[in-house]
Amino acid sequence: MEQKIASAVIKQYEPLVDNAKLSHEVSEYILSCGYFTEYKKTAEFEAELARILNVKYCSVVNNGTISLVLALKAMGVEPGDKVLIPNLTMYATQAAVELIGAVPVLIDIDAYTLCMDLKIAEEYIKNNDVNALIYVTFNGRSAGAGELEIFQALCKTYGIRLIEDNAQSLGSRRNDNKFISCPAGGIGSFSFSMPKIITTGQGGCLVTNDDYYGERIKRLKDFGRSGGGTDIHDEFGINSKFTEIQAIMGLNQIQTLGERIASKKAIFRLYEECLVAHCADHLRFVPTNLTEVTPWFADIFCTRRGELIEYLKNRGIETRPMYPYLSQQKVNNIEKRTNYYGDMEGLWLPSSINLSQIKIKQICNRIRGFYEQ
Ligand SMILES: *Cc1c(COP(=O)(O)O)cnc(C)c1O
Repeated sequence: MEQKIASAVIKQYEPLVDNAKLSHEVSEYILSCGYFTEYKKTAEFEAELARILNVKYCSVVNNGTISLVLALKAMGVEPGDKVLIPNLTMYATQAAVELIGAVPVLIDIDAYTLCMDLKIAEEYIKNNDVNALIYVTFNGRSAGAGELEIFQALCKTYGIRLIEDNAQSLGSRRNDNKFISCPAGGIGSFSFSMPKIITTGQGGCLVTNDDYYGERIKRLKDFGRSGGGTDIHDEFGINSKFTEIQAIMGLNQIQTLGERIASKKAIFRLYEECLVAHCADHLRFVPTNLTEVTPWFADIFCTRRGELIEYLKNRGIETRPMYPYLSQQKVNNIEKRTNYYGDMEGLWLPSSINLSQIKIKQICNRIRGFYEQ
């Protein structure tokens, strides 16, 4: 029998936080000021995000699902409206649309980006009454800036509101070398949940360059209040506010965003180097330009996925199956769509920011061992 790896289990993902520094910063805050709800630290975190992403407005909220709900509300999407979303995304994208009573329409993905296929979306838009579209930059990837610009112009002609779900893409760029942020004339949404590149435990943000949306979002997340501390409600709103402790966590990590990005890229690169020449019949990588893309998780498509997961798990290596297509989730159960990778299925390999090169090589040896046995 093969020997198990003696060291601790390699997690698929563990957040990286400078705990000593964070603990100092949090206790310093608690001793000096006790507002706790969003205030100066939150404003500082928002300003830092806006600066990095080069956008005019940034509002942080309690998570990256509610941020999509608020984006839809801010843009005036109504119950019954059709909203296009990709068939491959985290379920939250769909749930946000349904929460406001709008109707999600699943659009197939492009095998090269794993993002919504814009040709298929265009066809649908030309033949149906569509109100909004959520483009998900899946695992930090996206269509090219030029292609998106043409597509966005088409959406403008048809009066379609544009939202980008960038939950997995903080720190990723397009081929125009700009950080992914928000579509022109639209709203971008990010998440800071545990597995994302920076985490505030729970959390998210909305970014836009549009004055009307930027101001509207601020009121939407604060009960529709016309100003802080007043109880005058001229419009609809809920409570999606942040807390100062979360902002301190966010600020603590955003300072190392550059290193985090470099590490994510290095992890992906090493997996590719160690695996791409082997097991080609069993395993494929999505073509990924690492000068632009920051892959959130190292993803592969592989045969015998279930067996591989079990084999690695027995050897102390945790992985995570990529989301099933939304159409295949029980909650939807619509007709089965094309699987672009034949009998290969998506798998996320261990991708913690501080995962060492030695461990990645061990993981690759195990994967090769599985297919070459
Ligand atoms: C993580 C994620 C969300 C949800 O964000 P939460 O902060 O967990 O609510 C939405 N969309 C995508 C694509 C995600 O990866």
